[in-house]
Amino acid sequence: MSISKKMKNFAEKSSWIRKMFEEGAKMKAEFGAENVFDFSLGNPDVPPPPAFNKVIREVAADESAGVHAYMPNGGYPWVREALAARMSIEQGVAVHHGDMLMTCGAAGALNVVMKSLLNPGDEVIILAPFFVEYHFYVDNHGGVAKIVPCDKDFNLDLEAIRKAIGDKTKALIINSPNNPTGQIYSQDSLDALGKLLAEEGSKHSSTIYLVADEPYRKIVFDKHEVGSIFQATNNSIVLSSYSKDLSLPGERIGYLAVHPEINEKASLLDALTLANRILGFVNAPALMQRVVAELQDVCVDSSIYARRRDIFCKILKNAGFDFIPPKGAFYVFPKSPIEDDVAFCAILQEHKILAVPGRGFGAPGYFRLAFCVAEDIIEGSAEAFMAAMKQAKA
Ligand code: PLP
Repeated sequence: MSISKKMKNFAEKSSWIRKMFEEGAKMKAEFGAENVFDFSLGNPDVPPPPAFNKVIREVAADESAGVHAYMPNGGYPWVREALAARMSIEQGVAVHHGDMLMTCGAAGALNVVMKSLLNPGDEVIILAPFFVEYHFYVDNHGGVAKIVPCDKDFNLDLEAIRKAIGDKTKALIINSPNNPTGQIYSQDSLDALGKLLAEEGSKHSSTIYLVADEPYRKIVFDKHEVGSIFQATNNSIVLSSYSKDLSLPGERIGYLAVHPEINEKASLLDALTLANRILGFVNAPALMQRVVAELQDVCVDSSIYARRRDIFCKILKNAGFDFIPPKGAFYVFPKSPIEDDVAFCAILQEHKILAVPGRGFGAPGYFRLAFCVAEDIIEGSAEAFMAAMKQAKA
């Protein structure tokens, strides 16, 4: 075998979602798509807002010289200006366009950040349950992921975080609203986390960066608000994308912003810009940059997800599942009624429900359901959930 041992190992470890995807395709071919309750993927089905279709046509019609040319690696300055204006409002801190970079999605931004921060062996704290790709992004750049579980309500466990910090800690990644739990961290807990990182950083004579991965910021329910990481600590980086709030995951358009007073700002921004270039992204897609600049106040209709959340929660409650109603994003993360979450997902599958075992997110004993699927699929799954619960308890 000539491929890297590490990649072979990663391919095996990262197989849960892919496995469910393949199972889903097989089951849909056998039983018909309408008879399979596929909650395995976080691929938004809500179409992009009408404003997107209008703007993309206008932007695509532009034949001016240079519209498809190389550009500064951080992206068009005027696009970053449009984003910085919105970011300043969201964060309650004035953000300059020079403190922002356009990236190939949030995934591209995370890789750019990790490449810029990490020396070999540096540790990055990741909170479980986690977005599974974080491990790979940290490893891509020589870092080591250090897993810290959240508390029982999937909130920050500050004492556990404090204990996990050491001389090698370089960063901590948070994701709120969270995939897979739908939890949103309060501003008080973010402030406490910022304080903790600053204290521990000075104890260890280092800077510990707080990296906030926020692609679900605009998908929130019941008037919940997503706090400001920039108000929590100066040594912070926010990154996001339009994959979820404009339903454009295939277009690979995202961004990052560093706190205006972050340590070593000039060299960090140089590193981030160079990383965007040498990781092979070169720059974020030109067409999409020009499109999203016009859509700063636009978002998919998140009431669609809110309604689905309500329907799903009712179904799960009626079937006797134990779960925390999600405050945002489009996932719910119930407890498995039997200890073995993989065995329970197999039972669900017998009832034509596809879910991802919690151990894929670093949280065995749970399972993830994504509700970015049509309402009638969710409604149609009620009996199957009841039957699966009955079978698990038998
Ligand atoms: N972070 C989280 C928590 C996600 O759920 C996802 C995608 O599902 C990403 C990052 C990657 O998003 P993007 O498509 O913007 O790269």
